[in-house]
Amino acid sequence: MKVAVYSTKNYDRKYLELVNEHYGYELEFFDFLLTPQTAKTAIGADAVCIFVNDEGSREVLQELAALGVKTLALRCAGFNNVDLEAAKSLGISVVRVPAYSPEAVAEHAVGMMLCLNRHIHRAYQRTREANFSLEGLIGFNMYQRTAGIIGTGKIGVATMRILKGFGMRILAYDPYPSPLALELGAEYVDLDTLYAESDVISLHCPLTPENHHLLNAHSFAKMKDGVMIVNTSRGALLDATAAIDALKKQKIGALGMDVYENERDLFFEDNSNEVILDDVFRRLSSCHNVLFTGHQAFLTSDALTSISETTLMNIDQLSKGVTCPNILTA
Ligand code: NAD
Repeated sequence: MKVAVYSTKNYDRKYLELVNEHYGYELEFFDFLLTPQTAKTAIGADAVCIFVNDEGSREVLQELAALGVKTLALRCAGFNNVDLEAAKSLGISVVRVPAYSPEAVAEHAVGMMLCLNRHIHRAYQRTREANFSLEGLIGFNMYQRTAGIIGTGKIGVATMRILKGFGMRILAYDPYPSPLALELGAEYVDLDTLYAESDVISLHCPLTPENHHLLNAHSFAKMKDGVMIVNTSRGALLDATAAIDALKKQKIGALGMDVYENERDLFFEDNSNEVILDDVFRRLSSCHNVLFTGHQAFLTSDALTSISETTLMNIDQLSKGVTCPNILTA
């Protein structure tokens, strides 16, 4: 059984190869994205394995189906990049890794909050230059501040658990309230209340056609002056151009972005020798109170092991015709 694995880095290969010792599949690793232009490289593969920025459009899936690919295995939780209707009509089963380590993402989100709040990224730069001035580095106690969590699934709840430890009040918004969140003391409110009362807002919902640019000029206007926003979910949940304006008005006081709407052309690659053409990214990254990380919230050894285990188990179950709990239906 051959599996074509796209968008792979050294760390993907390392963990997939380790877990594959148990399965013995022929893994063919590609370092490029799956796109309509590259789909032909899946020739001879029974299954194709992709990540967040690979393309699972109808056009790509048609190409894969013509090559005889039966399984599309996402090695991530989000599946907004796959046309499930098209996959169904073409007879391609789509599987994902719904949970590999919610704590990995939650801990990164909270890390971004602490870094932005206490200006650790700036202190790091200053002290390397022997500049020990504290001017401009004032933060606030997280204790007794209010956190607004949008999306209270696995990662949202893991984030709440940490923030609860800081002694924060937790507001939550999710169409499907979670008993675990309620147990932690979260108060479910409507979005307008969450915007109005939160000092820190953290996004943990999937991207859907309905919530594209959920955080936009209108929602920023409803927030507290100087609000901190952290997005470790999907870039297009936040209108990055509107965020520039809100930063200029000091409506947004700090912005943490592990994901970015146009990350596909930037993230996961070393672009340090390139002229960056994305003016929105450049404007944002020039702000001292904006912190970017390049979609690394998942990147722990625990999560990479778990992702590899679930991905290969999903492929194994489908190939054997055994019920696979991680199959996605249109
Ligand atoms: P999950 O399925 O456990 O929870 C998602 C929750 O969001 C659910 O409770 C759902 O009801 C809720 N939801 C759906 N639409 C909503 C909306 N419009 N407003 C508010 N809530 C809504 O998913 P999870 O494992 O917690 O992951 C959440 C998201 O995190 C994923 O969809 C993915 O986009 C992102 N993610 C990012 C990384 C990273 O490395 N940055 C890694 C993994 C996942």
